[in-house]
Amino acid sequence: MNVDSIRDGIVIDHIAAGCGMKLYRLLGLENLEAPVAMITNVTSHKLGRKDIIKIDAAIDVDLDTIGYVDPGATVNIIRDGELKEKKQIEMPEQLVNVILCRNPRCITSCEQELDHVFRLSDRERKEYRCVYCETKASSL
Ligand SMILES: [Zn+2]
Repeated sequence: MNVDSIRDGIVIDHIAAGCGMKLYRLLGLENLEAPVAMITNVTSHKLGRKDIIKIDAAIDVDLDTIGYVDPGATVNIIRDGELKEKKQIEMPEQLVNVILCRNPRCITSCEQELDHVFRLSDRERKEYRCVYCETKASSL
């Protein structure tokens, strides 16, 4: 895969260095049957170091997941070899089935069909809490 010549796909750029792998896992990219390139520790004028993920497939990525891992990331949609759209990422107010509650006594650990829902409780500190038991999401 020539990572610079994606025809139809997605480039997630400006990911804080070290967060690329976490984002890769949370987006489930290891299950994708398409070429995915992870480039880590790229020199960036803006960030010093950054990670980049390039997906050579016209799939939809979950912007909430990206916003949870790094709201400073940018998502570029490539169609026919051209930049079609640049998506602005925001820290989501709510996360549904992105992360799991770690509290063993939480209702989500025995009620398998329940959605795992976290709500942003502190924007400054990027803190999310389980809506059922108030347990804090583990830090990034
Ligand atoms: Zn919980």
